[in-house]
Amino acid sequence: MRREDYLQWAERAARWGAGYLETLDERPVRAQVAPGEIAAMLPASPPEAPEEMETIFADFERIVPGGMTHWQHPRFFAYFCANAAPVSMIAENLASVMAAQCMLWQTSPAATEIETRMVDWTRQALGLPEGFQGVIQDSATSANLCAVLTMRERALAWRGIESGTAGERQLRVYASPETHSSIDKSIRLAGIGQQHLVKVETDASRALDPRALGRAIAADREAGFLPAGLILCVGGTSVGASDRAREAIEVARREDLYVHVDAAWAGSAMICPELRPLWDGVEKADSIVFNPHKWLGAQFDCSIQFLADPAPQVRTLGLRPDYLETLGQSEITNYSEWTIPLGRRFRALKLWFLLRAHGLEDLRRRIRNHIAWAEEAAAAIEALDDFRLTTPCHLSLFTFQYAPAGEDASEVTERLLQKVNDDGRIYLTQTRHEGRFVIRFQVGQFDCRREDVLMAVEVLRELVDEARR
Ligand SMILES: *Cc1c(COP(=O)(O)O)cnc(C)c1O
Repeated sequence: MRREDYLQWAERAARWGAGYLETLDERPVRAQVAPGEIAAMLPASPPEAPEEMETIFADFERIVPGGMTHWQHPRFFAYFCANAAPVSMIAENLASVMAAQCMLWQTSPAATEIETRMVDWTRQALGLPEGFQGVIQDSATSANLCAVLTMRERALAWRGIESGTAGERQLRVYASPETHSSIDKSIRLAGIGQQHLVKVETDASRALDPRALGRAIAADREAGFLPAGLILCVGGTSVGASDRAREAIEVARREDLYVHVDAAWAGSAMICPELRPLWDGVEKADSIVFNPHKWLGAQFDCSIQFLADPAPQVRTLGLRPDYLETLGQSEITNYSEWTIPLGRRFRALKLWFLLRAHGLEDLRRRIRNHIAWAEEAAAAIEALDDFRLTTPCHLSLFTFQYAPAGEDASEVTERLLQKVNDDGRIYLTQTRHEGRFVIRFQVGQFDCRREDVLMAVEVLRELVDEARR
């Protein structure tokens, strides 16, 4: 394809996209293909000669959409959503045409300066105090790793990045068992070692117990370990549990630990002032991550890490070889020094479009609706024969089991889940809760309507009735 043909194919792609969005809710939500089915439609080797765009586009239409799980489907209730408001898709198109590397201020001044402003807009939207700065990362996983590396180096007075950790006291990091697996991964990759991530006891509400945290730190100091950091969770991935940030951070401050808060999913809901008690005290944290690409509507990837003081993280991750110096400029921000990859996408553009096209009022309305409809669905499911809630609604996430008398509830729940996803009208996924197989139900798709949520209850009722007959 030649540069001159861009317009023709961009128009074609846009028309395809419009048709896709229009008919999305007629498709089965979860891909209905078997493993290997798509691969079998592709030639084993690349072509030597150019192919016509017509052929390529036709193959795309024939092979790809039917092999996708449709994440923008209004009846997507699985995992957490990866929302892409249509306006953010448009911004991504524009960013992809400029195809810039936004690693240094000089390599894309607009990208850097819009990023700084968008981080500050979201800071205000979430009600965080002035002083927090931040950076847009690809994912919460990356932000979590950056935070763990920073707590490691801060505890070692930045000796680790120079001479390694071999001669140092063993580091310890504390977290609730409800934190995401990316925290475990970060601890492994940071060379701290899985067994030195201390999963602190939780109370009945699944929040980390601050007194147990204090005891764990004291015991570790006694044993010669070096406590380095605390990782809190607001809106855990499995069942939505949250730590009580204020009390836990007080303990961490007394013990001079670096504190990172993972609010990847729930953070977006903090644009609603009435929901902020959920993370009360969070303004005392050193680092906070949330994913506008989950619940806010900014297309993946878009994960914002707020930092009370960027200096420790930049000291940990920043490297400026001669060939990356910006001659004659010292007072500029080079965001690649805040994160792991050098190359960076222009992620701020979609936030700029999104926040302006919807305004906070509309974004709040959507989140409030999702929560209200999730509560309605939870009550309706609980009222169905033989269904029980296993965890209550935390924001818009709850879990349930199907438990007819005399049967193994985990087994029948798993069978029901498979039936639901083969049916295709809705998509749900599972987790384990207190050793039991439970179904997670999360409402959060950007354009989801109340009737979409209520249809989920109908589908459950129907499939169970069918099996009884
Ligand atoms: C989704 C999620 C993550 C991982 O997010 P990515 O951006 O996909 O890396 C981490 N923590 C929590 C609490 C999450 O919900």
